[in-house]
Amino acid sequence: MKQLQVVWEVRDGVILAGGKSVLDLYREHDDRPLYVYDLDKISDRISQLRSVLADSAKLHYAVKANPHPEVVAHMATLVDGLDVASAGELEIAVATQIPPEEISFAGPGKTDRELERAIGAGIVVNVESENELRRLASIADVIGTRPRVAIRINPDFELKSSGMRMSGGPKPFGIDAERAVEAIGELRRLALDFQGLHIFCGSQNLRADAICEAQSKSMDLALATCEAAGVTPRFVNVGGGLGIPYFPGDEPVDLEPVGDNLAGLKSRLRSAHPGSDVVVELGRFLVGEAGLYVCRVVDRKVSRGQTYLITNGGLHHHLALSGNFGQIIRKNYPVVIGNRMNEPESERVNIVGPLCTPLDILGDKVSLPRAEPGDLVVVKQSGAYGFTASPHLFLSHPAPVEIIV
Ligand SMILES: *Cc1c(COP(=O)(O)O)cnc(C)c1O
Repeated sequence: MKQLQVVWEVRDGVILAGGKSVLDLYREHDDRPLYVYDLDKISDRISQLRSVLADSAKLHYAVKANPHPEVVAHMATLVDGLDVASAGELEIAVATQIPPEEISFAGPGKTDRELERAIGAGIVVNVESENELRRLASIADVIGTRPRVAIRINPDFELKSSGMRMSGGPKPFGIDAERAVEAIGELRRLALDFQGLHIFCGSQNLRADAICEAQSKSMDLALATCEAAGVTPRFVNVGGGLGIPYFPGDEPVDLEPVGDNLAGLKSRLRSAHPGSDVVVELGRFLVGEAGLYVCRVVDRKVSRGQTYLITNGGLHHHLALSGNFGQIIRKNYPVVIGNRMNEPESERVNIVGPLCTPLDILGDKVSLPRAEPGDLVVVKQSGAYGFTASPHLFLSHPAPVEIIV
């Protein structure tokens, strides 16, 4: 078994981030809730993952998980490639030292302007529909260049037990598997530069067996498609999907079987296409555990027997924490009182934000030490899909501050 876990240090009862107390960090930022990203924790995570993957797969970072430019710049020193999903993320990615052929642009609904920018930057466009393929070709024709293109396939299977399913059945993502060979034929007639295939089945999965099964089926599909189309891919991107433990009872993914499986996939790919690489693309697994969200208790009240801690943070800053970012049943993130880490749990409380909606929940009946106004609520597992995945403008409170330690 190889399961990775992140530990945040504590000194004198206060959580430390990058050796600094979260109380001090909070005081330095004008009473505004914080996102804190710890770059050393990202480095550790990647070196531990690399020790399992060895050289079986190239590691790409999915920028949308945390597009903070300093996080992405740090990532770029550690991973082999970056995956972007908009022209905004593209600009962040091309500002790093990652070479353009290792930057890919996936996502439905790319505008002509975005395609033009992608072609100009020389990155790989992961085409999501036949129409997008044709638009790309006609834009390239005007510019007079030959863009790098990969075909994203919507397979006829899914990643089982995933937080979010992104494949199987009708989907806005990718070209249906049964039309992929034809699409590659069209790509070649249009004289575009075929780079490889991209198959992404889902995200937030903690089960190694489900991840291995989806990655193996993705490789089967990619090899069969390339053979039928008579093309040699430079890479096959088999997706990722590795999740992190958010909720009570969640266990980290066992990486050993995932690493072993990828080694097998690489040797299958190489025997059909020497020189071709397996790529995995991960977002939250690389950054999610390296981030904290910190807010302050503003008020404490009892309503008909239940205690409420009311904070200056909430769903407008951290939508996923409130259970409104794709979760079906709301469960509690790991929440602590960041300046009372040495005190025993002594009460069950509801932690809520300042928004006038019952959806603004940070913690539902969580056992904590007694907290008072001024204490800090610290939410772990907040490094991915936090700041940029939240509706900051709702209720016109100040946005949180992002800091790097
Ligand atoms: C969002 C996304 C990812 C990253 O998902 P994580 O759950 O953060 O690992 C990877 N690839 C594609 C195509 C995505 O849309």
